[in-house]
Amino acid sequence: MIIKTVQDEIQNYLKDASNFKGNCNAVYFPETESDIISILKEANKNKTIVTITGNRTGLTGAGVPNGGIVISTEKLNKIIAINKKEKFVQLEPGVILSDLQNELKKHQLFYPPDPTETSCFLGGTVATNASGARTFKYGPTRDYVIGLIILLADGDKLYLERGKNQAKGNQLILLSEEGEKIKLNLPEINLPNTKNASGYYCKENMDAIDLFIGSEGTLGVITNIKLKVLPISKSKISSVVFFKNELDGLIFIKQARDQSVLSKIEHRDDIINALALEYFDKGSLEFLRNDFVNIPTNSQCSVWFEQEINNENENILLNKWVVLIKLCKGNERNCWFAFNEKEEQRIRDFRHSISEKINEYMAGKNFRKLGTDVAVPHNCFEELYNYAKNITEEEKIKYVNYGHFGDSHMHFNFLPENEKQYEEAKELYYLISKKAISLNGTVSAEHGIGKSKTHLLVEMLGEKTISKMFAIKKALDPNLILGRGNLFN
Ligand SMILES: Cc1cc2nc3c(=O)[nH]c(=O)nc-3n(C[C@H](O)[C@H](O)[C@H](O)COP(=O)(O)OP(=O)(O)OC[C@H]3O[C@@H](n4cnc5c(N)ncnc54)[C@H](O)[C@@H]3O)c2cc1C
Repeated sequence: MIIKTVQDEIQNYLKDASNFKGNCNAVYFPETESDIISILKEANKNKTIVTITGNRTGLTGAGVPNGGIVISTEKLNKIIAINKKEKFVQLEPGVILSDLQNELKKHQLFYPPDPTETSCFLGGTVATNASGARTFKYGPTRDYVIGLIILLADGDKLYLERGKNQAKGNQLILLSEEGEKIKLNLPEINLPNTKNASGYYCKENMDAIDLFIGSEGTLGVITNIKLKVLPISKSKISSVVFFKNELDGLIFIKQARDQSVLSKIEHRDDIINALALEYFDKGSLEFLRNDFVNIPTNSQCSVWFEQEINNENENILLNKWVVLIKLCKGNERNCWFAFNEKEEQRIRDFRHSISEKINEYMAGKNFRKLGTDVAVPHNCFEELYNYAKNITEEEKIKYVNYGHFGDSHMHFNFLPENEKQYEEAKELYYLISKKAISLNGTVSAEHGIGKSKTHLLVEMLGEKTISKMFAIKKALDPNLILGRGNLFN
C-alpha cells in the first residue's frame, strides 16, 4: 500500500471543490479491505484522526482533513458485478460516477442519482446522500442503496442489507462481524418535507442502512456498495427555455411540477412528467454568457427541463411542453432543444459550468464557496426566493441564484468582490439559512453539513438533538477518530 507523507505530494488532498483547506500528516492509499482494517486498528489504538476522502468534489469541507491521516479510496475502484436481470450493481467506493454510467449503458441500464459533477466517487455520493437534477423524478441516493459493508473505527465490520434490520421504535441494534451488539437511541426528529442531507437520518422503525447513508465519513468507512439500477430510457426531450420575466419562469416550474405529480398519481405517460426542472436567474445567465453566446440578451431567467420519452409519446409530449412554454410566456423562438446526445451534453455542460465557474471565481479570490443548499416545502419557496434576493440586493453584493427549483431547492451563491463583502455575504448566507429553517425547510438538501455548516445544523435541529446524534457517533467511534470536524463542531 502506498503511503505519502511529503507535503508537496499531498496538497491535492488538503482541499475540496469549495476551496475549504485543511492539513494532515499522511495520505494512505489502501488497495484492499484488509489494508483499511489495519490502518483503522492502528489509528484507533493511537487515537489518530482519520478523514476518509473520495474525489473531493464535495462543497462543505467534509472530505478535507483536520489533522491526522487521510484514507483515499481512489484505488478501490472496481465494479464487482452488474446484474442486468435483478437490476443491481455492486462496487467498491472509489468507482467514478461517469465510469459507472458508461459501464451501465453497455447493459442498457442507468443509475438515477446525478450530482452534476460526474467525477465524484460512488462512496462520496453515498456518504453525502447526494442528489441532483434527476432527483426531481427519481429521488436521492438513499433510494438506490440496497447494501453496504462498513468498517467501523476499530476495524470491526457491519454487513447492512436493506430490509434486514429495522429499529424498534427509536431503538436500533447493530450486530458486528466480531459479535458486538451496539445499541443506539435514535433522536426524534421532525424531518423536513423536502430533500434533506442535514445530519444523521433518524426515524422511528428506520432501516439500519439509512443511518450510514449521508453520515459524511463520521461513522465508518464504506468499503462495498450495492445499488439498485434502472433500465435506460430510449430517448429524452431536453430543453432550455428563456423568459423575459422571472416570475414567468417560476410559474413554468410550478405548472410543470404539478403536471408531473399528476402524471405519477394517474400513471400516465402522455402528460408532462419532468426528469429535471432546473432554474437559472439573470445573474447566472450573465455569468455564462461568454461561454454560451446564444443566450438571448433580454432574458431574466431560464429553465432547463428534461423528460424521458418513447416512440409513441414523443410528439404528444413535445406538444404539451410547447403549450406550457407559450402559456408561461417563454421565449419560444429562442429555446434550446437537444435532438441528439451531443446537443444534450451541451445543455448538461451549460448546467455544470455554472457551479464550476462559481467555484473557480471564489477560489480565484481565495474565498471559500458561499452558496446555499437550502430547500423548503413548495408552498414556501417563493417567499424564500424573494427574501434572499431582497436582502442581498440591499447590500449590493453580486450573486447568482440557480438550482433544483423543481424540488424547491436553491443554490443562492454570493460573488463578493473583497473581504468586507465576503464577511457581509456570510451574514446574509446565515440569514437565508435561518429563513429556510423558519419555513420548515433544511439547511442542506444535498451537499451535507461537512465542516462548514455545523453551526447551521445546530440552528436547524437544536442542541438536544445534536447531543443525541453525537451519542450515536460516540457509540460507533468511541475515540472520535473518524471525520473529525464533520457534523459536530
Ligand atoms: C461543479 C459541482 C457540482 C455539484 N453539484 C452537485 C449536485 O447537483 N448535487 C449534489 O448532491 N452534489 C453536488 N456536488 C457535490 C459533490 O459532487 C457531491 O457531494 C459528491 O457526492 C461528493 O463525492 P466525492 O467522491 O467527491 O466525495 P468527497 O468530497 O471526497 O467526500 C464527501 C464526504 O464523503 C465521505 N466519504 C467519501 N468516501 C467515503 C467512504 N468510502 N466511506 C465513508 N465516507 C466516505 C468523506 O469523508 C466526506 O465526508 C457538486 C460538486 C461540484 C464540484
